[in-house]
Amino acid sequence: MKHAFIRIIIRLFRITRAYCILCPVYRGEGVILGMHRVVPNCEKPRIASNSRIEITPEFLEELIRFFRGIGYEIISLDRLYERLNRGKGTGRPFVCFTFDDGYVDICRNALPIFEKYNAPFAVYVVTTFADKSAVLWWYMLEDLVLNHDTLDISIRGRDYSFKCPGHDQKEGVFNRLRSVLMELPQAQVPEEVKALCAPFGIFPEQYTDQLMSWEQVSELSRHPLAIVGAHTVHHYNLRMLSTEREVEWEILESKRLIETRTGRKVFHFAYPFGSRQEVGRREIEVASRCSFHTAVTVREGAIFPGHKRHTEALPRIEITGRHQDITLVDMRRCGTVSLMRNGFNRQVTL
Ligand SMILES: [Zn+2]
Repeated sequence: MKHAFIRIIIRLFRITRAYCILCPVYRGEGVILGMHRVVPNCEKPRIASNSRIEITPEFLEELIRFFRGIGYEIISLDRLYERLNRGKGTGRPFVCFTFDDGYVDICRNALPIFEKYNAPFAVYVVTTFADKSAVLWWYMLEDLVLNHDTLDISIRGRDYSFKCPGHDQKEGVFNRLRSVLMELPQAQVPEEVKALCAPFGIFPEQYTDQLMSWEQVSELSRHPLAIVGAHTVHHYNLRMLSTEREVEWEILESKRLIETRTGRKVFHFAYPFGSRQEVGRREIEVASRCSFHTAVTVREGAIFPGHKRHTEALPRIEITGRHQDITLVDMRRCGTVSLMRNGFNRQVTL
């Protein structure tokens, strides 16, 4: 109900361009954009919750040109930290480009674009991704569902039988399987999906070429335009971990591994998933003890000078495949969505 209401208001803002009035009050000093993958559109049918983390190279270029066109400065996370802490900066509004997880398309498709525009960006790397030991179970499930019109499977001794000849049914089956898996302890999900997919000839090794290797992470960390940040070891929902110690290990171990592999200090962190369901006070307190300069969530919001005291929970504007629309980005950088989601509170933290 609340979401439907927000959608109507956003549509009204868009048609009337009323959001321009709010801009001076809600746009703050600038924004951090949060993205995942940059891949060209493909003809192949996809499961929406997977394709939503992909934007096209064309849209990435459009974003860079849009922000430069309206006078924004594209700055690195290091410059953002300096600007917040020491008030250093040109006074122009800024935008930071960040990408979560460490998919290889950031090296192949995004890096050449940032080089073309001489613009800085950051990638938050999951260390089991770079190890190639992570099981990309969401893509395995996608192929399982897309390639079969009937499925008779068993999860933890419980049998499931699905008929899914049409795409909408496949989306439904994917979401059903995912919610069944999400009920399990997080560490068990990869093994469960491996067992589920093996009889269909779907194996984790078929997917690891989508991830950056340690060599690529290391090369990126030496690139003058790129910053490599940490994003935990396993990409668990940190809030679901039972002890503070486990949360701390996930964060600190990923920082240590990246520093060892790249020979460079890691000063920036992104919470996995990053919404309120996955990041609470405990996670923020733990991250604040891990010697980072900045840590980001996906709470929607712009950056204000007061964020100087909250660099361990900076909001971002999450750009997804569903939101490849410059007018919508314009509205969001003005704070239109943030003010509705956060009860007119300008400075979003926890
Ligand atoms: Zn992530």
